[in-house]
Amino acid sequence: MVIFEYKLDGSKKQYAAIEEAMRVVQFIRNKCLRLWMDEQGISKNDLQVYCAVLAKEYPFATHLNSQARQASADRAWFAISRFYDNCKSHKPGKKGYPKFQHDNRSVEYKQTGWKLEPDGKHMTFTDGCGIGRLRLVGNPKQRIADFSTEQIKRVRIVHRADGYYVQFGVKAERVIEHVPTGKQVGIDVGLKAYYTDSEGNTVENPRHYRKAEQKLKRLHRNVSRKQKKSSNRKKARKQLARACLKVQRQREDFARKMASTLVSSHDLIAYEQLQIRNMVKNHHLAKSIHDAGWGTFISWVKAYGLMHTIPIIAVAPQFTSQECSACGAMVKKSLSVRTHICTSCGVILDRDHNAALNILAKALERTLGHRETSSSSEEGNASGQTASPRLSKQKTSKRAG
Ligand SMILES: [Zn+2]
Repeated sequence: MVIFEYKLDGSKKQYAAIEEAMRVVQFIRNKCLRLWMDEQGISKNDLQVYCAVLAKEYPFATHLNSQARQASADRAWFAISRFYDNCKSHKPGKKGYPKFQHDNRSVEYKQTGWKLEPDGKHMTFTDGCGIGRLRLVGNPKQRIADFSTEQIKRVRIVHRADGYYVQFGVKAERVIEHVPTGKQVGIDVGLKAYYTDSEGNTVENPRHYRKAEQKLKRLHRNVSRKQKKSSNRKKARKQLARACLKVQRQREDFARKMASTLVSSHDLIAYEQLQIRNMVKNHHLAKSIHDAGWGTFISWVKAYGLMHTIPIIAVAPQFTSQECSACGAMVKKSLSVRTHICTSCGVILDRDHNAALNILAKALERTLGHRETSSSSEEGNASGQTASPRLSKQKTSKRAG
């Protein structure tokens, strides 16, 4: 599914109608949840049936398109089934018992209840909510009108800090012809750099990371200084929300561009599987911005990998920074040591460069086993004409165990 997003331009009255639609979604979701809590053995199908009952009982609910109502019931089921899954898999800690929602900010239509105009610049919501005709604001190169109505599987309106947006979920096979480059690469997240690759190239963190970090810090302070529940605090929070949104977009944009460049210039990419969730818990702001950026980057690399049909391989993070990439010896070093100096073979490398080499080596060792992205031709690529003899030597000497 490819997502196309536009900002919605409409009147205050139309925005109010969107809000009303979101309240109906929340109402149906919460009602379904209540039914599940009150009665035993409620299934997904029961919720779908209940949806129709609700529409009869509460006339305002019928304003919302019927498929959108069904989608609201599905949301309740999604929360319930996630809870069941967590229980079944004995997930440690909280199981995520479904909660009632109070601040729903989205509504999802499927294939009815809306109409896109042939110019791709306007759309109309045709159900009883009265949202009406809205203008779509977005990148002119992004042409949603090129897709048929059958290809657009869902239309979701989202309320963000700076307005209303619409996302079109398009079912399209976007396969890009990959021009083989004969290059395979491992990448390592540095503490300072965005990433370092196994060729020794470094991509620096974008300048806006630093700027954003300072601005967010200031705005955070601003919010906490204002009196609770005051209108000034509300204003400050709004400012903070907008700044966060901006950072998120810049991060996304940078990640997408970097990922596209990386994928189109290599035939295989290996990266270290990090526990992003644990890392973001770190309250150091600069670091959490960086980590979130890394997570976004990797998901774009995977997405582009699929389009280009090249293998993107995750490797376990153990010892990637400690091992010598040339001879396999263990060279223990703390985080502050930036250079890898091997006491056994004498090789001197930048710490992250050494790690990136190890990551690539680990990936090449197991390319015939599990992989995240697969393509028909990768067997040939991955078995490694470009892998240096060093790698195969390592395999037999050190890493076999
Ligand atoms: Zn060595």
